[in-house]
Amino acid sequence: MLGRVPGVAVVEAGDAATLARHLAGGNLAAVVTEHRPPWADAVAILAAVKGSDAPCPVVLFTAAWDARLLGDAVRGGLDGFVAKDSAGFLRLPEVVGELVAGSAWGRDRGSRRVVDGLPIGVFTAGPGAILTGANPALARLLGVASPGLLVGLPLADSVDDEEVAAQLRGGETVSGAEVRLLRPDGGEALATVDAWPDEDRGLAGCVADLAPARAARERMERRVAALERSNAELEQFASVVSHDLQEPLHLVERFARMLAERYGSQVGDEGRSFLKHVVAGAERMQAMVDAALAYSRIGTRGRPFAPVDLESALSQAVDNLKVTLTEAGASVTHGDLPTLPGDEAQLVQLLQNLVGNAVKFRSSAPPEVYVSAEQNGDGWDLVVRDNGIGIPPEHHDRIFLMFQRLHTEDEIPGNGIGLAICKRIAERHGGGITVESEPGRGSRFRVRLAPHSEETRTAPDEERGDA
Ligand code: ADP
Repeated sequence: MLGRVPGVAVVEAGDAATLARHLAGGNLAAVVTEHRPPWADAVAILAAVKGSDAPCPVVLFTAAWDARLLGDAVRGGLDGFVAKDSAGFLRLPEVVGELVAGSAWGRDRGSRRVVDGLPIGVFTAGPGAILTGANPALARLLGVASPGLLVGLPLADSVDDEEVAAQLRGGETVSGAEVRLLRPDGGEALATVDAWPDEDRGLAGCVADLAPARAARERMERRVAALERSNAELEQFASVVSHDLQEPLHLVERFARMLAERYGSQVGDEGRSFLKHVVAGAERMQAMVDAALAYSRIGTRGRPFAPVDLESALSQAVDNLKVTLTEAGASVTHGDLPTLPGDEAQLVQLLQNLVGNAVKFRSSAPPEVYVSAEQNGDGWDLVVRDNGIGIPPEHHDRIFLMFQRLHTEDEIPGNGIGLAICKRIAERHGGGITVESEPGRGSRFRVRLAPHSEETRTAPDEERGDA
């Protein structure tokens, strides 16, 4: 009946000498013994096998069992017991297969437990990639009830990829091949197969179920797509709203001005003051709309990344701020600045906003701005330091949000978008922005830039008529 354990050749030992010869040859995968074969008894056979140079699992197959016999056998290291009845005849091949499958990991129970507990399929195979050992994860993947049933199965026949199957049959190395596995029950599974030649056993390897990883990847791809969609919609919304707001705003401003010019004398001082507020409000709103538009364009109008020399970006920013810097008596100095992949116009804008703020929020001392760069992992930290009024710690996060300011328009003009734009530019360049500062002790803005040169984001609808 053991002929039904696939891949297992059965030899019969009719006397003690034959058994001793097979044991000495070291090629027994398991021994099945009855309680009392004519030439020995089960406990003595067990002792002979376990005491030999090449011990292997022993299964006791008997109808005449009693507690004492079983106790002796278990103490002697018995690996399996099958009652010799009709169910036992059916079960014996699986029990033996199971032991053969497990014994591939060696006789150490610890390592067997580890291999059996692994969530990926592990196997050993002989010539022709005939499985000689498997763990429960491989059985699950191939849809069979237990690893024992896999022993003797030609692994390559289950692999729906001629090239990989040939490599397995030839005992060659296979590295992370993604294949479809044809299961004995007619089902299929997607898996990665790794295999390597193994001196003792021909081939060893592992088979990992690809379904969970693939499902996770698909989930992530769906989320990214949804995010990109909503991001694009948001950008479009911001751009449309800011664009469409411009015209009515412009009208309010123009007619308020005209009203002030033509009928100013008729409405009295109070009326003129009201009109002044209307114009100022409209101008302010216009500035905010422009700022929102500039903010939304960082995503939609970004240029593909190319090498940017930050030193030249800084000098362009300083150039753009020339009048402001001169008026304030400001000095801008810098350390070594790298060249890195990026969107030059945006990096100029980032530096311009930071240097401009350093001057705008100056203390009584002439503004001194120092720009430096430090390598940080796979990117750079660009640091802009000033000797200005500083920022209380409780506002260190808030200042990077849109329209968030710490001063009124009358105190220090601005629309609260400069740092939000810096944050967005830094994020587009794979990084972010933080500040270290204390009131009265200046500020230090740290911009992390870790751009990937393959970044080429530009929205397909970038050339909207909102310029
Ligand atoms: P705005 O400059 O138009 O106010 P920002 O977004 O550039 O808008 O800055 C937000 C707020 O952060 C500013 O109102 C200011 O209170 C604070 N801030 C920015 N830069 C500095 C700086 N270098 N020193 C002190 N405060 C600053």
